Amino acid sequence: MNAIGVDVGGTKIAAAVVSPGGEILNEVRYPTQAVPPNRLLESIGYAINEAGEGFETGGACVAVPGLVMSPENKVIFAPNLHEIEGIRLDEELGRSTGLPVTVENDANAAAWGEFHYGAGKDVEHLVFVTLGTGVGGGVITHGVLLRGLQGAGGELGHIVMEPGGPLCGCGNEGCLEALASGTAIQRRAREVANRHPGSALGRLAIERQILGEDVTRLAQEEDEAALRVLRETGTWLGIGLAGFVNIFNPEIVAVGGGASQAGEMLLEPAREEMYRKARSPSRDLVEIMEATLGPTSGVLGAAALAQDGEGRYVLEPAGEAS
Ligand SMILES: [Zn+2]
Repeated sequence: MNAIGVDVGGTKIAAAVVSPGGEILNEVRYPTQAVPPNRLLESIGYAINEAGEGFETGGACVAVPGLVMSPENKVIFAPNLHEIEGIRLDEELGRSTGLPVTVENDANAAAWGEFHYGAGKDVEHLVFVTLGTGVGGGVITHGVLLRGLQGAGGELGHIVMEPGGPLCGCGNEGCLEALASGTAIQRRAREVANRHPGSALGRLAIERQILGEDVTRLAQEEDEAALRVLRETGTWLGIGLAGFVNIFNPEIVAVGGGASQAGEMLLEPAREEMYRKARSPSRDLVEIMEATLGPTSGVLGAAALAQDGEGRYVLEPAGEAS
């Protein structure tokens, strides 16, 4: 049966009807910012209904950035989306759409998308890391999405790697997110540009604010300063990945998100650092690669979650079996 995957971001709501084979049959996008106050929930309902019109669908899963307690289908904290915090979204959206609806953290949903249809489709053990404004993550082990007791697990971006390091959005210092996100790349680019004003990166920094894609472009043009920014970022990423490789022993680590467009300029130093820091045998077989679905991983993963029975636990949580 088809299912609807919804990806709610800071700028847009994307809702897609997805076939069991992972084909997007229809997709609608609503801007989040143009939505009047207190209408976000309604807009998500509209998006689900509009996308699904004319299609037979069995359910929907809504992927939301922020802290999600998936067993309760509640968002605890979502920056810029405070309106939907603390509400039973399965009940509210179930009423407006007439479908079974579940809620998942967006990075967990994207990880599930890569596991079903993307970089991890041939493996049972996948770690997914997404480098955007922040750093999100998802872990699949033995084919099961790791959620933890309250469904808030898999927050790979908030392991502290450098106490006293740069401030993270979560309030800690030196999280992986503060060291290897797109935001971290921009901050590091400013610092390196200040130290190397004669570089292409340094000259651009005098003209205007440097964006992540500027760093990638200048690095492709072999500007040493831009390459250094990506190398340093990749090294920090690799330190984080070494921890994940030691803990989860994955077959594949897939790196997605906007910053992953830097490709091997970021992944090669990450791979080298992971290999230096992780232990054998976990480090020897693991493959660190770019995620393959791009920005569609969210809707595809959410739809796949909705297709997996309850859109919830693929295996019943331990202790609940009779
Ligand atoms: Zn943090």
